[in-house]
Amino acid sequence: MNYYGSQISKLIEELSRLPGIGPKSAGRLAFHMINMPEEQVEQLAEAMLCARKNVRYCKECYTLTDQELCPVCASRERDHSTIMVVETARDLAAYEKTGKYNGVYHVLHGAISPMLGIGPNDIKLKELVERLRGEITEVIIATNSTLEGETTAMYISKLIKQSGIKVSRIASGVPVGGDLEYIDEVTLLRALEGRTEI
Ligand code: ZN
Repeated sequence: MNYYGSQISKLIEELSRLPGIGPKSAGRLAFHMINMPEEQVEQLAEAMLCARKNVRYCKECYTLTDQELCPVCASRERDHSTIMVVETARDLAAYEKTGKYNGVYHVLHGAISPMLGIGPNDIKLKELVERLRGEITEVIIATNSTLEGETTAMYISKLIKQSGIKVSRIASGVPVGGDLEYIDEVTLLRALEGRTEI
């Protein structure tokens, strides 16, 4: 039913496609936007478009960046021989926030999930293997403690073991089923420090 006129309905419809936004929140946001100064709406729209157009994968670690290399990969201060494997760019951000990890990352953009039909070729695994040809001494697997995260961790450790590179898994200080993004920094650090070789 079109209560509000087609343009408002269209805006509500588009907003409700975003993750975590149901029809009610979409309605609230739409009415908020309509009451915002036009300038501010333009800035918002421009920021969305610019980000969408310019953000790409870092050519080393595959996190999202607007440069060829992300700031971590571009830094000479970082230890490029230690790679922490995470599922998403948000997980990378969570570890960066602790300020205590000095290695580099590899972002898989997902995890293996036979249930959802996501196999090793659907995430950035080939790219990880490619990186291991360089001078890498340790791979820290920091995928989530979900079934998918654990499956992925096992797969990666088997894959890397043959190469003789040390493989470790973050400690289970991260709660089972836990999404790394929402875990506090202390817990993350404890998980990292308590990592064990697998
Ligand atoms: Zn990078």
